Amino acid sequence: MLEVITQRLSEKNARLVAVSKTHPPERIMPLYLKGQRIFGENRVQELQQKYEVLPKDIEWHLIGHLQTNKVKFIAPYISLVHSVDSLDLLKEINKQALKNNRVIDCLLQFHIATEETKFGLSEQEASDILHNPAFSEMKNIRVCGVMGMATFTDDQSLIRSEFRHLKSIFDSLKNGFFENSPWFREVSMGMSGDWEIALEEGSTLVRIGSLLFGHRN
Ligand SMILES: *Cc1c(COP(=O)(O)O)cnc(C)c1O
Repeated sequence: MLEVITQRLSEKNARLVAVSKTHPPERIMPLYLKGQRIFGENRVQELQQKYEVLPKDIEWHLIGHLQTNKVKFIAPYISLVHSVDSLDLLKEINKQALKNNRVIDCLLQFHIATEETKFGLSEQEASDILHNPAFSEMKNIRVCGVMGMATFTDDQSLIRSEFRHLKSIFDSLKNGFFENSPWFREVSMGMSGDWEIALEEGSTLVRIGSLLFGHRN
């Protein structure tokens, strides 16, 4: 499965985040040995445990909701935080990145689904963050794009329209705020059930768990 997915992604210049949440290090190593380097986790404590025992050239992505008081634990090594949904969180990531003498890449998470429960910003909230004077003062974070989750549904056309919406948000932020920022280029969308639609709609990072690792308990 890994080979099939990575082949399809490379044709579109997209990358795979192998979502290893709930699976132990010994399930991660076979994918690592096949060349996979980007792994995604949604809980800080679980990520910490895996970071400590697994090879240090893994690029760890945090894909789940991040509480400000947990940023300090992952700041030394995290490659990309997909789930930034407030200015306060960005400030804390900036502060901890500075302490670690590094720049941390982040994505703004948008609420694109019809479900109430999913985290994420509205376009207005994102615009407020990016216009805030505090944003331009943060030198230790880099906003590299957007992330979103489609509604959990069989309705392919709904999923497609939500992904299209996220891509349009990306395009308008690129034009409005990041025209001269080559690093602003990521659209994180697509999971096991909808990654092919996401790819057609312009995804650059797909986050796939169960298709690679089997079902989670
Ligand atoms: C768990 C998770 C995924 C992967 O889901 P699968 O359906 O197993 O591929 C992707 N993105 C986020 C934010 C997740 O929490």
